[in-house]
Amino acid sequence: MERTLAIETPQKIGQEITLQGWVNTRRDHGKIIFIDLRDRTGLVQVVFVDAKDAKDLRPEWVVEIKGLVKERPEKLINPKLPTGKVEVEAKEIKVLAKAKELPFDTGTEDLNIGLPVLLDYRALTLKHPRIQAIFKAQEAIAEGFHQAAKEIGCTEVFAPTISASSTEGGAQVFRFNYFNCEAFMVQSPQLYKQIMVGIFEKVFLFSHIYRAEPSVTTRHLCESIQMDCEIGFVDFDELVFLLGKTFAKTIAYAQKKCTKELEFLGVAPSLVEGKIPRLTMREAQQIIFERTGIDHQQEKDLMPEDEKEISLWAREKYNSDLIVITHFPTKKRAFYTMPDPENPEYSLSYDLLYKGLEISSGSQRIHEYNELVAVIKERGMNPENFKMYLQAFEYGMPPHGGFSYGLERSTMKLLDLENIREASLFPRDMERIDFRLPKKEA
Ligand code: ATP
Ligand code: MG
Repeated sequence: MERTLAIETPQKIGQEITLQGWVNTRRDHGKIIFIDLRDRTGLVQVVFVDAKDAKDLRPEWVVEIKGLVKERPEKLINPKLPTGKVEVEAKEIKVLAKAKELPFDTGTEDLNIGLPVLLDYRALTLKHPRIQAIFKAQEAIAEGFHQAAKEIGCTEVFAPTISASSTEGGAQVFRFNYFNCEAFMVQSPQLYKQIMVGIFEKVFLFSHIYRAEPSVTTRHLCESIQMDCEIGFVDFDELVFLLGKTFAKTIAYAQKKCTKELEFLGVAPSLVEGKIPRLTMREAQQIIFERTGIDHQQEKDLMPEDEKEISLWAREKYNSDLIVITHFPTKKRAFYTMPDPENPEYSLSYDLLYKGLEISSGSQRIHEYNELVAVIKERGMNPENFKMYLQAFEYGMPPHGGFSYGLERSTMKLLDLENIREASLFPRDMERIDFRLPKKEA
Protein backbone atom coordinates (compact mmCIF):
# COMPACT_ATOMS: atom_id res chain seq x y z
CA MET A 1 0.00 0.00 0.00
CA GLU A 2 1.38 3.38 -0.98
CA ARG A 3 0.17 6.10 1.36
CA THR A 4 -0.72 9.55 0.05
CA LEU A 5 -0.45 12.46 2.47
CA ALA A 6 -3.20 15.07 2.67
CA ILE A 7 -0.97 17.80 1.23
CA GLU A 8 -0.17 15.65 -1.84
CA THR A 9 -3.81 15.19 -2.91
CA PRO A 10 -4.01 18.27 -5.22
CA GLN A 11 -1.31 16.65 -7.38
CA LYS A 12 -3.26 13.42 -7.69
CA ILE A 13 -6.52 14.49 -9.34
CA GLY A 14 -8.16 11.54 -11.08
CA GLN A 15 -6.10 8.97 -9.19
CA GLU A 16 -7.09 6.30 -6.68
CA ILE A 17 -5.17 6.87 -3.46
CA THR A 18 -4.93 5.62 0.12
CA LEU A 19 -5.05 8.11 2.98
CA GLN A 20 -4.34 7.44 6.65
CA GLY A 21 -5.12 9.76 9.51
CA TRP A 22 -7.60 11.00 12.06
CA VAL A 23 -11.18 12.14 11.60
CA ASN A 24 -10.92 15.82 12.43
CA THR A 25 -14.55 16.82 11.92
CA ARG A 26 -17.65 15.24 10.47
CA ARG A 27 -20.48 17.05 8.70
CA ASP A 28 -23.73 15.27 7.74
CA HIS A 29 -25.67 16.50 4.72
CA GLY A 30 -28.61 14.14 4.34
CA LYS A 31 -27.38 11.05 2.55
CA ILE A 32 -23.88 12.40 2.17
CA ILE A 33 -21.26 12.62 4.92
CA PHE A 34 -18.17 14.82 4.73
CA ILE A 35 -15.18 14.36 6.96
CA ASP A 36 -12.04 16.41 7.24
CA LEU A 37 -9.24 13.89 7.50
CA ARG A 38 -6.13 15.07 9.36
CA ASP A 39 -2.60 13.79 8.99
CA ARG A 40 0.78 15.33 9.79
CA THR A 41 0.57 17.54 6.71
CA GLY A 42 -2.88 19.02 7.36
CA LEU A 43 -6.50 18.45 6.38
CA VAL A 44 -8.26 17.10 3.32
CA GLN A 45 -11.99 16.70 2.75
CA VAL A 46 -13.30 13.19 2.20
CA VAL A 47 -16.84 12.63 0.94
CA PHE A 48 -18.93 9.52 1.57
CA VAL A 49 -21.64 9.43 -1.07
CA ASP A 50 -23.34 6.63 0.81
CA ALA A 51 -23.75 7.85 4.39
CA LYS A 52 -23.98 4.37 5.85
CA ASP A 53 -20.27 3.74 5.14
CA ALA A 54 -19.34 6.55 7.52
CA LYS A 55 -22.23 6.66 9.95
CA ASP A 56 -20.20 5.34 12.92
CA LEU A 57 -17.18 7.62 12.40
CA ARG A 58 -16.42 10.05 15.21
CA PRO A 59 -13.69 12.68 15.69
CA GLU A 60 -10.23 11.26 16.40
CA TRP A 61 -10.97 7.81 15.05
CA VAL A 62 -7.91 6.61 13.14
CA VAL A 63 -8.81 5.43 9.67
CA GLU A 64 -7.45 4.27 6.35
CA ILE A 65 -9.46 5.42 3.34
CA LYS A 66 -9.13 4.37 -0.27
CA GLY A 67 -10.70 6.84 -2.65
CA LEU A 68 -10.63 8.88 -5.81
CA VAL A 69 -9.23 12.42 -5.87
CA LYS A 70 -11.64 14.83 -7.55
CA GLU A 71 -11.46 18.51 -8.38
CA ARG A 72 -14.09 20.49 -6.48
CA PRO A 73 -16.53 22.66 -8.44
CA GLU A 74 -15.39 26.31 -8.43
CA LYS A 75 -18.00 27.45 -5.91
CA LEU A 76 -17.11 24.71 -3.41
CA ILE A 77 -13.39 25.52 -3.26
CA ASN A 78 -12.18 26.22 0.27
CA PRO A 79 -9.50 28.95 -0.02
CA LYS A 80 -8.47 28.46 3.63
CA LEU A 81 -7.12 24.96 3.00
CA PRO A 82 -4.05 24.15 0.86
CA THR A 83 -6.06 21.11 -0.26
CA GLY A 84 -9.22 23.19 -0.71
CA LYS A 85 -9.44 22.63 -4.47
CA VAL A 86 -9.93 18.88 -4.17
CA GLU A 87 -11.86 16.28 -2.26
CA VAL A 88 -11.47 12.53 -2.00
CA GLU A 89 -14.48 10.39 -2.82
CA ALA A 90 -14.26 7.43 -0.44
CA LYS A 91 -14.51 3.93 -1.88
CA GLU A 92 -13.32 1.84 1.07
CA ILE A 93 -12.72 2.58 4.71
CA LYS A 94 -10.85 0.65 7.39
CA VAL A 95 -11.01 1.70 11.02
CA LEU A 96 -7.53 1.40 12.55
CA ALA A 97 -8.47 2.66 16.02
CA LYS A 98 -11.57 4.04 17.66
CA ALA A 99 -11.52 7.04 19.98
CA LYS A 100 -13.41 8.09 23.06
CA GLU A 101 -15.89 10.92 22.72
CA LEU A 102 -14.11 14.27 22.91
CA PRO A 103 -14.46 16.30 26.13
CA PHE A 104 -14.67 19.52 24.09
CA ASP A 105 -14.87 20.59 20.48
CA THR A 106 -11.44 20.42 18.84
CA GLY A 107 -12.65 21.06 15.30
CA THR A 108 -12.74 24.83 15.78
CA GLU A 109 -10.10 27.27 14.51
CA ASP A 110 -9.18 28.22 18.08
CA LEU A 111 -9.31 25.91 21.07
CA ASN A 112 -11.52 27.94 23.34
CA ILE A 113 -10.45 26.47 26.65
CA GLY A 114 -8.37 27.89 29.49
CA LEU A 115 -4.75 26.95 30.14
CA PRO A 116 -5.42 24.42 32.97
CA VAL A 117 -7.78 22.39 30.75
CA LEU A 118 -5.42 22.77 27.80
CA LEU A 119 -2.72 21.12 29.93
CA ASP A 120 -4.96 18.54 31.65
CA TYR A 121 -5.78 17.18 28.20
CA ARG A 122 -2.31 17.73 26.72
CA ALA A 123 -2.18 14.45 24.77
CA LEU A 124 -5.37 15.58 23.06
CA THR A 125 -4.90 19.34 22.74
CA LEU A 126 -1.47 18.91 21.13
CA LYS A 127 -3.30 17.54 18.10
CA HIS A 128 -4.92 20.90 17.37
CA PRO A 129 -3.31 22.59 14.33
CA ARG A 130 -2.63 25.83 16.25
CA ILE A 131 -0.85 23.96 19.03
CA GLN A 132 1.04 21.78 16.55
CA ALA A 133 2.27 24.97 14.87
CA ILE A 134 3.86 26.11 18.16
CA PHE A 135 5.99 22.98 18.31
CA LYS A 136 6.93 23.08 14.64
CA ALA A 137 8.24 26.59 15.35
CA GLN A 138 10.06 25.26 18.42
CA GLU A 139 11.71 22.57 16.32
CA ALA A 140 12.82 25.28 13.86
CA ILE A 141 14.32 27.35 16.69
CA ALA A 142 16.32 24.34 17.86
CA GLU A 143 17.44 23.65 14.30
CA GLY A 144 18.34 27.33 13.80
CA PHE A 145 20.44 27.35 16.96
CA HIS A 146 22.16 24.14 15.91
CA GLN A 147 23.14 25.76 12.60
CA ALA A 148 24.15 29.11 14.09
CA ALA A 149 26.37 27.41 16.69
CA LYS A 150 28.01 25.22 14.05
CA GLU A 151 28.66 28.29 11.91
CA ILE A 152 30.83 29.79 14.66
CA GLY A 153 32.81 26.56 14.89
CA CYS A 154 31.23 24.89 17.94
CA THR A 155 31.23 21.11 18.46
CA GLU A 156 28.02 19.64 19.85
CA VAL A 157 28.38 17.86 23.19
CA PHE A 158 25.96 16.15 25.55
CA ALA A 159 26.13 16.84 29.27
CA PRO A 160 24.71 14.95 32.26
CA THR A 161 21.80 16.35 34.25
CA ILE A 162 22.74 14.68 37.54
CA SER A 163 25.41 16.59 39.39
CA ALA A 164 27.40 16.28 42.60
CA SER A 165 27.36 20.04 43.17
CA SER A 166 24.95 22.89 42.72
CA THR A 167 26.24 25.49 40.25
CA GLU A 168 24.10 28.57 40.42
CA GLY A 169 23.68 28.46 44.19
CA GLY A 170 20.48 29.59 45.84
CA ALA A 171 17.52 27.60 47.02
CA GLN A 172 16.16 26.74 43.63
CA VAL A 173 17.88 23.39 43.35
CA PHE A 174 16.27 19.96 43.36
CA ARG A 175 18.24 17.64 45.65
CA PHE A 176 17.76 13.94 45.81
CA ASN A 177 19.12 10.81 47.30
CA TYR A 178 21.62 9.13 44.99
CA PHE A 179 22.58 5.77 46.53
CA ASN A 180 22.67 7.40 49.98
CA CYS A 181 24.64 10.40 48.76
CA GLU A 182 23.24 13.85 48.10
CA ALA A 183 23.00 14.74 44.42
CA PHE A 184 21.43 17.58 42.46
CA MET A 185 19.52 18.01 39.23
CA VAL A 186 21.56 20.51 37.21
CA GLN A 187 20.37 24.11 37.18
CA SER A 188 22.50 24.55 34.07
CA PRO A 189 25.10 22.53 32.14
CA GLN A 190 27.63 25.21 33.06
CA LEU A 191 30.42 23.20 34.65
CA TYR A 192 30.47 20.56 31.93
CA LYS A 193 30.41 22.96 29.02
CA GLN A 194 33.31 24.90 30.52
CA ILE A 195 35.30 21.69 30.98
CA MET A 196 34.68 20.92 27.31
CA VAL A 197 36.17 24.27 26.23
CA GLY A 198 39.45 22.82 27.50
CA ILE A 199 38.99 20.06 24.91
CA PHE A 200 37.18 21.36 21.81
CA GLU A 201 37.70 25.14 22.34
CA LYS A 202 34.13 25.90 21.26
CA VAL A 203 31.11 23.80 22.18
CA PHE A 204 27.35 23.96 22.09
CA LEU A 205 24.69 21.84 23.67
CA PHE A 206 21.01 21.34 24.41
CA SER A 207 20.34 20.48 28.03
CA HIS A 208 17.37 19.93 30.28
CA ILE A 209 17.74 22.11 33.37
CA TYR A 210 15.87 21.99 36.66
CA ARG A 211 14.91 24.86 38.92
CA ALA A 212 12.74 24.58 41.99
CA GLU A 213 11.03 27.86 41.09
CA PRO A 214 9.09 28.70 44.23
CA SER A 215 6.51 30.96 42.61
CA VAL A 216 4.12 30.73 39.72
CA THR A 217 5.02 33.17 36.94
CA THR A 218 4.31 33.26 33.22
CA ARG A 219 8.04 32.86 32.39
CA HIS A 220 9.39 30.13 34.70
CA LEU A 221 9.19 26.36 34.49
CA CYS A 222 10.71 23.83 36.89
CA GLU A 223 12.13 21.83 34.00
CA SER A 224 13.20 23.63 30.87
CA ILE A 225 15.55 23.30 27.93
CA GLN A 226 18.60 25.49 27.46
CA MET A 227 20.60 26.02 24.31
CA ASP A 228 24.16 26.84 25.30
CA CYS A 229 27.42 27.94 23.70
CA GLU A 230 30.79 28.11 25.42
CA ILE A 231 33.65 29.61 23.47
CA GLY A 232 37.40 29.69 24.07
CA PHE A 233 39.98 32.28 23.04
CA VAL A 234 37.59 35.24 22.92
CA ASP A 235 37.30 38.58 24.64
CA PHE A 236 34.28 40.29 26.15
CA ASP A 237 33.31 42.34 23.09
CA GLU A 238 33.44 39.29 20.85
CA LEU A 239 31.24 37.42 23.32
CA VAL A 240 28.65 40.21 23.37
CA PHE A 241 28.66 40.21 19.57
CA LEU A 242 28.27 36.42 19.37
CA LEU A 243 25.47 36.44 21.96
CA GLY A 244 23.32 38.67 19.77
CA LYS A 245 24.40 37.31 16.42
CA THR A 246 23.81 33.66 17.27
CA PHE A 247 20.32 34.38 18.55
CA ALA A 248 19.43 36.67 15.65
CA LYS A 249 20.44 33.88 13.26
CA THR A 250 18.45 31.33 15.22
CA ILE A 251 15.28 33.39 15.04
CA ALA A 252 15.82 34.42 11.41
CA TYR A 253 16.17 30.72 10.50
CA ALA A 254 13.01 29.78 12.41
CA GLN A 255 11.02 32.58 10.79
CA LYS A 256 12.11 31.50 7.34
CA LYS A 257 11.47 27.83 7.98
CA CYS A 258 8.07 28.45 9.57
CA THR A 259 6.57 31.23 7.47
CA LYS A 260 3.44 29.13 7.06
CA GLU A 261 3.07 28.46 10.78
CA LEU A 262 3.74 32.10 11.74
CA GLU A 263 1.18 33.29 9.23
CA PHE A 264 -1.33 30.72 10.50
CA LEU A 265 -0.78 31.89 14.07
CA GLY A 266 -1.02 35.54 12.98
CA VAL A 267 2.43 36.48 14.30
CA ALA A 268 4.31 39.49 12.96
CA PRO A 269 7.96 38.77 12.11
CA SER A 270 10.48 39.69 14.82
CA LEU A 271 12.94 42.51 14.16
CA VAL A 272 16.24 40.67 14.43
CA GLU A 273 18.11 41.60 11.25
CA GLY A 274 19.63 44.97 12.18
CA LYS A 275 22.09 46.32 14.72
CA ILE A 276 21.49 45.10 18.26
CA PRO A 277 21.77 47.93 20.79
CA ARG A 278 23.97 47.42 23.84
CA LEU A 279 23.84 49.18 27.22
CA THR A 280 25.28 48.60 30.67
CA MET A 281 22.71 47.81 33.36
CA ARG A 282 23.26 51.26 34.93
CA GLU A 283 22.80 53.02 31.57
CA ALA A 284 19.59 51.08 31.02
CA GLN A 285 18.28 52.04 34.47
CA GLN A 286 19.05 55.69 33.76
CA ILE A 287 17.20 55.62 30.43
CA ILE A 288 14.23 53.93 32.12
CA PHE A 289 14.24 56.63 34.80
CA GLU A 290 14.30 59.38 32.15
CA ARG A 291 11.47 57.74 30.18
CA THR A 292 9.14 56.78 33.03
CA GLY A 293 10.19 58.68 36.14
CA ILE A 294 10.46 55.29 37.89
CA ASP A 295 13.78 55.20 39.71
CA HIS A 296 15.38 51.74 39.86
CA GLN A 297 18.91 53.10 39.67
CA GLN A 298 19.88 51.61 43.04
CA GLU A 299 18.54 48.14 42.17
CA LYS A 300 21.07 45.36 41.64
CA ASP A 301 19.25 43.82 38.72
CA LEU A 302 16.69 44.74 36.08
CA MET A 303 13.10 44.18 37.22
CA PRO A 304 10.70 42.46 34.80
CA GLU A 305 9.07 45.85 34.09
CA ASP A 306 12.51 47.33 33.36
CA GLU A 307 13.15 44.59 30.79
CA LYS A 308 9.89 45.56 29.07
CA GLU A 309 10.60 49.29 29.13
CA ILE A 310 14.16 49.07 27.81
CA SER A 311 12.99 46.72 25.06
CA LEU A 312 10.43 49.35 24.01
CA TRP A 313 13.27 51.86 23.85
CA ALA A 314 15.29 49.46 21.63
CA ARG A 315 12.35 49.01 19.30
CA GLU A 316 11.65 52.75 19.07
CA LYS A 317 15.25 53.87 18.70
CA TYR A 318 16.90 50.95 16.87
CA ASN A 319 13.94 49.13 15.34
CA SER A 320 15.20 46.03 17.15
CA ASP A 321 13.40 43.34 19.16
CA LEU A 322 16.76 42.45 20.75
CA ILE A 323 18.91 44.37 23.19
CA VAL A 324 22.02 43.35 25.17
CA ILE A 325 22.51 44.57 28.73
CA THR A 326 25.99 44.21 30.21
CA HIS A 327 27.85 44.72 33.51
CA PHE A 328 25.55 43.35 36.17
CA PRO A 329 26.79 43.56 39.78
CA THR A 330 29.36 40.81 40.38
CA LYS A 331 27.60 39.66 43.55
CA LYS A 332 24.37 39.05 41.63
CA ARG A 333 25.98 36.65 39.17
CA ALA A 334 27.25 33.10 39.51
CA PHE A 335 30.70 32.53 41.05
CA TYR A 336 32.44 31.74 37.75
CA THR A 337 31.63 35.19 36.30
CA MET A 338 34.67 37.38 35.68
CA PRO A 339 34.62 40.73 37.52
CA ASP A 340 35.36 43.75 35.32
CA PRO A 341 39.09 44.49 35.95
CA GLU A 342 38.31 48.23 35.68
CA ASN A 343 35.59 48.10 38.34
CA PRO A 344 35.29 44.69 40.03
CA GLU A 345 31.99 45.60 41.68
CA TYR A 346 30.49 45.00 38.24
CA SER A 347 31.08 41.93 36.09
CA LEU A 348 31.80 41.04 32.49
CA SER A 349 28.32 39.62 32.24
CA TYR A 350 25.39 40.16 29.90
CA ASP A 351 21.75 39.38 29.31
CA LEU A 352 19.98 39.35 25.98
CA LEU A 353 16.40 40.63 26.05
CA TYR A 354 13.91 39.64 23.35
CA LYS A 355 10.62 41.53 23.11
CA GLY A 356 10.78 42.61 26.74
CA LEU A 357 12.01 39.40 28.36
CA GLU A 358 15.40 37.98 29.37
CA ILE A 359 16.03 35.21 26.90
CA SER A 360 19.70 34.58 27.62
CA SER A 361 22.41 35.18 30.20
CA GLY A 362 26.12 34.70 30.08
CA SER A 363 29.52 36.13 30.82
CA GLN A 364 33.19 35.97 30.36
CA ARG A 365 34.39 33.36 32.88
CA ILE A 366 37.22 33.30 35.39
CA HIS A 367 39.75 30.99 33.77
CA GLU A 368 42.60 31.20 36.24
CA TYR A 369 42.65 28.27 38.69
CA ASN A 370 43.69 30.11 41.89
CA GLU A 371 41.22 32.91 41.30
CA LEU A 372 38.42 30.42 40.79
CA VAL A 373 39.22 28.49 43.98
CA ALA A 374 39.38 31.77 45.93
CA VAL A 375 35.97 32.85 44.64
CA ILE A 376 34.39 29.49 45.46
CA LYS A 377 35.68 29.80 49.04
CA GLU A 378 34.61 33.44 49.31
CA ARG A 379 31.08 32.44 48.44
CA GLY A 380 31.05 29.87 51.23
CA MET A 381 31.23 26.85 48.95
CA ASN A 382 33.62 23.93 49.17
CA PRO A 383 36.15 23.51 46.31
CA GLU A 384 36.03 19.75 47.02
CA ASN A 385 32.52 19.75 45.52
CA PHE A 386 33.91 21.13 42.27
CA LYS A 387 36.85 18.77 41.93
CA MET A 388 36.20 17.58 38.39
CA TYR A 389 35.50 21.14 37.19
CA LEU A 390 38.60 22.52 38.85
CA GLN A 391 40.74 19.78 37.34
CA ALA A 392 40.12 21.37 33.94
CA PHE A 393 41.43 24.71 35.22
CA GLU A 394 44.50 23.23 36.86
CA TYR A 395 45.60 21.88 33.52
CA GLY A 396 45.36 24.89 31.23
CA MET A 397 42.07 26.61 30.48
CA PRO A 398 41.99 29.36 27.82
CA PRO A 399 40.13 32.65 28.31
CA HIS A 400 36.50 31.87 27.51
CA GLY A 401 32.88 32.73 27.98
CA GLY A 402 29.45 31.75 26.83
CA PHE A 403 25.72 32.11 27.02
CA SER A 404 22.54 30.09 27.24
CA TYR A 405 19.18 30.70 25.64
CA GLY A 406 15.93 29.29 26.99
CA LEU A 407 14.15 27.24 24.31
CA GLU A 408 10.66 27.68 25.74
CA ARG A 409 11.14 31.42 26.32
CA SER A 410 12.43 31.81 22.77
CA THR A 411 9.36 30.00 21.44
CA MET A 412 7.04 32.00 23.64
CA LYS A 413 8.44 35.32 22.48
CA LEU A 414 8.75 34.40 18.80
CA LEU A 415 5.05 33.49 18.79
CA ASP A 416 3.85 36.20 21.22
CA LEU A 417 2.43 33.58 23.58
CA GLU A 418 1.28 34.86 26.94
CA ASN A 419 2.47 31.99 29.08
CA ILE A 420 5.64 29.88 28.86
CA ARG A 421 3.58 26.77 29.60
CA GLU A 422 2.06 27.05 26.12
CA ALA A 423 5.59 26.69 24.72
CA SER A 424 6.42 23.48 26.59
CA LEU A 425 5.06 20.13 25.44
CA PHE A 426 4.61 18.87 29.00
CA PRO A 427 5.31 21.77 31.37
CA ARG A 428 6.42 21.17 34.95
CA ASP A 429 5.79 23.82 37.57
CA MET A 430 5.26 23.83 41.32
CA GLU A 431 1.64 22.84 40.78
CA ARG A 432 1.89 20.33 37.97
CA ILE A 433 3.70 17.24 36.70
CA ASP A 434 1.48 16.33 33.75
CA PHE A 435 -1.57 16.65 36.04
CA ARG A 436 -2.17 19.04 38.87
CA LEU A 437 -0.40 17.84 42.02
CA PRO A 438 -2.47 17.15 45.10
CA LYS A 439 -2.55 20.16 47.42
CA LYS A 440 -0.39 19.61 50.52
CA GLU A 441 -0.43 21.49 53.80
CA ALA A 442 2.53 23.90 53.96
P1 ATP B 1 15.25 34.85 35.51
O1 ATP B 1 16.13 35.95 36.08
O2 ATP B 1 14.32 35.32 34.45
O3 ATP B 1 14.59 34.03 36.57
P2 ATP B 1 17.71 33.42 35.31
O4 ATP B 1 18.63 34.59 35.21
O5 ATP B 1 17.58 32.70 36.60
O6 ATP B 1 16.26 33.81 34.76
P3 ATP B 1 19.63 31.97 33.76
O7 ATP B 1 20.25 31.20 34.85
O8 ATP B 1 20.29 33.19 33.31
O9 ATP B 1 18.11 32.33 34.20
O10 ATP B 1 19.31 30.96 32.57
C1 ATP B 1 19.58 31.26 31.20
C2 ATP B 1 18.30 31.28 30.39
O11 ATP B 1 17.58 30.04 30.54
C3 ATP B 1 17.33 32.34 30.83
O12 ATP B 1 17.64 33.56 30.24
C4 ATP B 1 16.02 31.77 30.33
O13 ATP B 1 15.85 31.97 28.94
C5 ATP B 1 16.20 30.29 30.57
N1 ATP B 1 15.66 29.90 31.88
C6 ATP B 1 16.28 29.94 33.05
N2 ATP B 1 15.50 29.53 34.06
C7 ATP B 1 14.33 29.20 33.51
C8 ATP B 1 13.10 28.69 34.01
N3 ATP B 1 12.95 28.43 35.30
N4 ATP B 1 12.09 28.47 33.14
C9 ATP B 1 12.25 28.72 31.84
N5 ATP B 1 13.38 29.20 31.29
C10 ATP B 1 14.41 29.45 32.10
MG1 MG C 1 19.82 35.16 33.76
